[in-house]
Amino acid sequence: MSVKELIAEYGLRPNKALGQNFLIDENAIERIVSLALEPGLPLLEIGPGLGALTYPLAESGLPLAAVELDGALSKILAEKLPENARVVNRDFLKADLKELHGLLGGGEITAVGNLPYYITSQIVARLVTGGLPIRRMVLMMQSEASERFTAAPKDKNYVPLTVMSQYLFEISEALELGPASYWPQPEVRSRVLVFDRVKDGLPAGLPRLLKAAFANRRKTLVNNLSALGLPKQAAEGMILDLGLSASVRAEELSVREFIRLEAAVRQ
Ligand code: SAM
Repeated sequence: MSVKELIAEYGLRPNKALGQNFLIDENAIERIVSLALEPGLPLLEIGPGLGALTYPLAESGLPLAAVELDGALSKILAEKLPENARVVNRDFLKADLKELHGLLGGGEITAVGNLPYYITSQIVARLVTGGLPIRRMVLMMQSEASERFTAAPKDKNYVPLTVMSQYLFEISEALELGPASYWPQPEVRSRVLVFDRVKDGLPAGLPRLLKAAFANRRKTLVNNLSALGLPKQAAEGMILDLGLSASVRAEELSVREFIRLEAAVRQ
């Protein structure tokens, strides 16, 4: 049964406010599923909707937990899933990550999802900084949002989440899709990004450093670092030691330079 027919059968309507654009492109579904199954690890799906990805993922027999905010969709989905898969009717942004991890056996996992567009960054931030041992993520999002994860220094999309994501994961683009791949159709194009883990965790002081460094994009890095209680002269010394100019702005630093700056600030 198609998504459209399924929705009609249950007397529902796609909820725009929850970003419900269901994936109907069989080739895209096949590609996403095969990328997510490749590591052979238990699966955490965010926003399963009516199961376009969930059913083929669950067919693998791997443990799967699918976190869906919409109660009606969760119920429909739960009725037809095999035993290795379960739906967790929860807001992913508020869900207890330890509990979700426990449902999946407590080891390394793969995260996958066609993400609701209105909270894409918040969801990825939780996946990146929430401490879950995620080996791979296969995430579909609107093209504009995807730029936050692929941006290079000096780009307007280069933000703290870019630095943290690119430090922990090697990020590549697997697919680009137009509006016709969804029902109802969104107005914009989407991309699927694959995040492959390259580092276990973030340096302890990195999130705080990045928050301060990017707090005011018009200010120099030295001035922004005063929020960390770093005297101007000390901050300037560290930045010059990295071979950078004293008037550099946060968005000009590479990921490696941020890591070196974090180590200097920590000492
Ligand atoms: N995976 C399905 C597909 O590809 O057809 C649905 C994808 S749709 C773009 C996003 C899904 O995320 C919707 O089912 C929506 O109800 C769900 N959702 C929205 N906000 C959520 C949240 N905070 N936590 C969990 N799921 C959420």
